Amino acid sequence: MGASCLHILSVFSMFLVFSVPWAAADLRVDTFLQCLSYREHPSYPISGAIYTPDNSSFSDVLYSYIRNRRFMTSTTPKPLGQSYVSNNPFVILDLFNLRSITFDDATETAWVQAGATLGELYHAIAEKSKTLAFPAGVCLTLGTGGHFSGGGYGNLMRKYGLSVDNIVDAHLVDVGGRILDRNSMGEDLFWAIRGGGGASFGVILQWKIKLVPIPEVVTYFKVGRTLEEGATDVVHRWIKVAHKLPEELFIRAQPQVVQVGDQKTVNVSFIALFLGSAQELKPLMERDFPELGLKPEDLKETSWIETTLLFADFPSGTPTTVLLNRTRTPIYFKFKSDYVRKNIKKEDLTLIWKKMIELEKVFVQVESIWEKNESDSRVCNSIPTQIRSQIQNPVPSDLVRGWRRGQQPLRGPGLTYKPEFMGGSTSRTISEDWLE
Ligand SMILES: Cc1cc2nc3c(=O)[nH]c(=O)nc-3n(C[C@H](O)[C@H](O)[C@H](O)COP(=O)(O)OP(=O)(O)OC[C@H]3O[C@@H](n4cnc5c(N)ncnc54)[C@H](O)[C@@H]3O)c2cc1C
Repeated sequence: MGASCLHILSVFSMFLVFSVPWAAADLRVDTFLQCLSYREHPSYPISGAIYTPDNSSFSDVLYSYIRNRRFMTSTTPKPLGQSYVSNNPFVILDLFNLRSITFDDATETAWVQAGATLGELYHAIAEKSKTLAFPAGVCLTLGTGGHFSGGGYGNLMRKYGLSVDNIVDAHLVDVGGRILDRNSMGEDLFWAIRGGGGASFGVILQWKIKLVPIPEVVTYFKVGRTLEEGATDVVHRWIKVAHKLPEELFIRAQPQVVQVGDQKTVNVSFIALFLGSAQELKPLMERDFPELGLKPEDLKETSWIETTLLFADFPSGTPTTVLLNRTRTPIYFKFKSDYVRKNIKKEDLTLIWKKMIELEKVFVQVESIWEKNESDSRVCNSIPTQIRSQIQNPVPSDLVRGWRRGQQPLRGPGLTYKPEFMGGSTSRTISEDWLE
């Protein structure tokens, strides 16, 4: 392991977590720490970055990072991050210090260290340029390490595909401690870490991303229709047309239970990003999706960076510096994603609304994955994500995400829906079995 790698180790925080009693694990810890110290470079001491349960701040540091309420029970082995758990002893590398983002203006690329969040990435891009962006998720606190290595879908995906479609190089530490780049790791491994989950293959230190062009002014809208205002017909129509709309237009449908007077109903929000002006969007919507009944005042012309905030539910005018905020008030929920490959029938929509009203604290997001023919270079096995394998045939594919607070599966006549905690990137690729 070279000096550069040792330096990298010293900027990680390392948590040693054992599911066996701590005393019994002592020996293993000692051996592990001894092994690390053999590799230590005097200029970059690693000891200060290691937290074992013997360290007085172990619990404080650990709990401050836990995002999954299940991991807060005293009996659960404590991992960090958002998506994983293990019953075997394990080490956690906290990459939060590896968050630099450096641009190459000539090639419109950037090296993004794997500890940077999406919010930090979007903020850095916007500081650099008003006409560049990067296609990735809408949730701003996701880490680029896990998010990119799982695929990374978001509201630019109809135009530019997934995050991994726009990754051109990566640096990874392999199990032997070597730092590899795309050349030295080879195309197979480079293929695998772009959708196959990074942790199976090594520790990704940084990604080289290709930025994508966007207009300086984009258009955003968020309009709601309740059941009483004909939401079922509008959603049904949207399901039919969403994948046929120009790829510059992304529309998410988000049904949610609301109280109107003394009655509960479902309000479906249609939230959209259009890579163009309101003047261009208006005739397009009138032609392809008049059922939504958009009014000129619904269309907000703004910058791409502001849409990252609006999609994350920040009010209009929120300073972009909130993108740098790594902590948000925790909201606990479970969610699950599936790919629906046939149009959802109107009667099934009605059943979903009925079940949602019964359960109340649930909401669903439906997104249209782009339709491409097989000659498109993005289709086929260019990357190992499950989304891609689902769209090999040119059929509409809607990504449905259900969110719910609470533990019980969502069940009802005509509807079986088992919420589980899963990252979007790790979803099962089953189609329509949530509508059994
Ligand atoms: C609230 C929420 C919203 C989401 N929204 C979206 C969305 O819009 N689009 C989307 O595509 N996905 C979305 N996801 C899923 C998200 O992309 C995955 O959960 C992703 O794995 C999170 O990565 P992380 O680094 O933040 O989490 P972590 O839990 O830290 O990491 C996840 C996995 O990646 C591994 N990993 C992390 N960093 C590295 C690294 N540097 N090297 C090797 N392996 C690494 C970890 O070991 C772990 O197995 C969402 C998830 C949540 C919780």
